[in-house]
Amino acid sequence: MASARPIGRGALVSLSLAILLLLISSFISIASTTSSNDLFSAQVQATNINQALAGLEKLLLDAETAQRGFLITGDERYLEPYQIAEKGLQASLDDIATALHDMPQDMRLLGEIEHAVTLKRKEMAATIETYRLQSAEAACAIVKTDQGKVLMDDFRHTLAALQEVNTRRAEVARQQLLEQLHYTNITIISASIISMLAGIIGVWFVRRGLQSQQHSELMRIEKERAEEADRHKTQFLANISHEIRTPMNAIIGFSRLLAQRVTGDKERSYVDAIVLSSKGLLALVNDVLDLSKIESGKLELARDTINLADLVDSLIAMFSQMAQDKGIELSSQIENTLPDFVLIDGNRVRQILVNLLSNAVKYTESGQVTLEARSESSGNDASLVRLIFNVVDTGRGIAAEDIAVIFDPFKQGSRADGAMQEGTGLGLAITQRLVEIMQGTLQVQSELGAGSAFSVILPNVKVIAALEPSAERQLPIDHLTSLNIEKILIVDDVQLNRELLVDILEAYAQKIMLAVDGEHAIALALAECPTLILMDVRMPRLDGRGALKKLRELPQFNDTPVIAVTASSMREEEIELRRQFDGYVRKPISVEALTAEIARVLARRFPTRNDERGTPIQAPDKNDIPHATLDNLNAGLQVLHLHAFKQANDSLAHRDVLFFLDGIKKLALQVNVAELTAYGERLNTAVSRFDIIAMERELDRFPALVEQFHSLASGA
Ligand code: ADP
Repeated sequence: MASARPIGRGALVSLSLAILLLLISSFISIASTTSSNDLFSAQVQATNINQALAGLEKLLLDAETAQRGFLITGDERYLEPYQIAEKGLQASLDDIATALHDMPQDMRLLGEIEHAVTLKRKEMAATIETYRLQSAEAACAIVKTDQGKVLMDDFRHTLAALQEVNTRRAEVARQQLLEQLHYTNITIISASIISMLAGIIGVWFVRRGLQSQQHSELMRIEKERAEEADRHKTQFLANISHEIRTPMNAIIGFSRLLAQRVTGDKERSYVDAIVLSSKGLLALVNDVLDLSKIESGKLELARDTINLADLVDSLIAMFSQMAQDKGIELSSQIENTLPDFVLIDGNRVRQILVNLLSNAVKYTESGQVTLEARSESSGNDASLVRLIFNVVDTGRGIAAEDIAVIFDPFKQGSRADGAMQEGTGLGLAITQRLVEIMQGTLQVQSELGAGSAFSVILPNVKVIAALEPSAERQLPIDHLTSLNIEKILIVDDVQLNRELLVDILEAYAQKIMLAVDGEHAIALALAECPTLILMDVRMPRLDGRGALKKLRELPQFNDTPVIAVTASSMREEEIELRRQFDGYVRKPISVEALTAEIARVLARRFPTRNDERGTPIQAPDKNDIPHATLDNLNAGLQVLHLHAFKQANDSLAHRDVLFFLDGIKKLALQVNVAELTAYGERLNTAVSRFDIIAMERELDRFPALVEQFHSLASGA
């Protein structure tokens, strides 16, 4: 369902403006109408007053005409209109006075008119009276004095003045009315136009808002569809990858075991071809799955405590055989300032560097490949650094036009000889995306025939001051040789997988038991009490997780280490399995990974297992050691104590302890003193098993050892 969304700011502003302008224009038109009405009334009133004044004049003239008619003819009938006019005069004057009552200036003029009318009326009445009482001649004599004419002229003059005032007033009111109407018209028309425009803009905004709402709704649906499809695709790929890995486990595992047993050169080359092809196929499956996960944004980064020097060392070790076979030199350069431990997704950094190193070695025919690691400070926070890894080779280089495409999936650079290239063209695409996910940058500098330099820059990497107890460490290969596991229970529904594990582990265990599913495993565990359980995860009837849960409910298996063995390649599943189980191994199984994981799990579960635990230092016997040797020994120990030991003891870093161990071994070879050789062997075992506790214990013992030999020399 579409969610209700506001119509948008633009629309709101425009529509509000339109409404405001309409209100303003309505207000203006109302105000203007009121004011126009007043002006119009003033104009009408002035006109009416003038008409009333004209009426007054007419009445006075009528009265005078009737008066003259009577005086000339003596006919009494003329006195009738005279009396009518006479009566009308006062009424007219009263009406005019009412109309002018609030205009003082006009009232003054009206007063003068009234006075003139009164005088005129008196004059007319006097002549009529004279006519009646005296004679026509006496009345005519009064008329001939022109007094009546003068009075009439005065009246007219004052009347004209008042009419003039009213005419002017009417004109002013008319002008103002016109102006008012003009101004109102302009205002209303402008306001209407602007409000219409604002309305149109508002409607446009609303429409656009609706369209964008519709568009976002469509996008949301599309996104949901795409995510759904993506989920299906990822699930499908995960299933396919699981299905491919399961048989590959058997193919690679058995081929490796076979390779150790076949003797004939030809047969061996066949087996090698099988191993190589299987590895290629597996790499392709991994790459495709990785790329798909990265592209769908599913890849989650882990945060492991990683020893950078170890990482570099192990990478060099990984490619050293390949480089040696090709006759090229492979080396590393670790800057002194590189921190020992950092918090980073170790597997992904490893994957990035493996891709770059494998390309460098693959595309270099002579010269050398170097892996450089250094760090720079990253901003103000001292606990963060920028890690820089450079993989530099003296190989065939990359043509300028190819540099633009080599980071695209399935794109490979062209070969000078036009031949097909090995590889899938996915390595750099994955590498670049991984670097980007880690917020870093991947740069390349290369020229055809002049080698290549790939740089990985990872910003804001957290430095870990000292090795944390939970830190996962890289274990050296072949760490099971000194272990003798009593009973291993292997649980897997696929027979080939069980057989493969038996083949790998039979040398390290006194007894191996096999179970085909979870229920079978629990029954066997109850009967045999295994020292270690390797548990497949997906199995019929009762799967690995279910079996683990049931085992943990039984008190006697609380401490039994259980390692999950799975063909799943989903990172999320790996994280979850690592949390539930004591260990985790991915199929196809590599002997190194399996034995490393077993050693790690056992070392953690049984930290006191080391044979040499608690072994007291044998007190050296002065008589057994020649004097000169004792001096050499003490001198060597002093040097070691001051430098290598101090460094190793302070940092507990793998390379520092190795350096110290190296010094002990050299000195032991030189002086051939049993106690020192034994000490070196114990430290060696602790280091090679990565048993931090044993390592610390041996380092703690060293000062006492130095002291003992020192006392021996001084004869104490
Ligand atoms: P692939 O190596 O499987 O072909 P990549 O994505 O790892 O795929 O590399 C893409 C292409 O980039 C390679 O085919 C190669 O032409 C070129 N390339 C990568 N690294 C180097 C290198 N160090 N020296 C020369 N060419 C390289």
